[in-house]
Amino acid sequence: MSDLRDLYQQVILDHYRSPRNFGVLDPATACAEGHNPLCGDKIKIYLRMDGDRVDGATFEGVGCAISTASASLMTEAVRGLERPQADALIASFLALMTGDGNGAAAVDLGKLEVLSGVKDYPVRIKCATLAWHALRAALEGGDSEAVTTE
Ligand code: ZN
Repeated sequence: MSDLRDLYQQVILDHYRSPRNFGVLDPATACAEGHNPLCGDKIKIYLRMDGDRVDGATFEGVGCAISTASASLMTEAVRGLERPQADALIASFLALMTGDGNGAAAVDLGKLEVLSGVKDYPVRIKCATLAWHALRAALEGGDSEAVTTE
């Protein structure tokens, strides 16, 4: 498990220091904000849909290493997916992070799996899932705010 923990830290730090797809997407077809009051993370997700396909995804905001890295990894993972694939990816990632492993096997999460290391720190799970709740909100209609409070 120490290998996974090292990988987890490397990937988190890499994406925190050099976030991918960081900035406003112009033009965007949908956006949604996520706010995690427990940590102070605030992230805004921008999407550009081409029909049912995610043509582009970016994010901006301020957050801790985990919320930033998760958003960065998310924007990479979701780009190019059809809407049903994106929904399945969100569901699988949230299942992975919240401990219900049943949905996690549905989609190969690739390097997103390193974020499961966050499960060792329960208060950080909301940091890791923030961008994903915001992505779901953007896919479902945009211009809404996802708050991880429960
Ligand atoms: Zn955080």
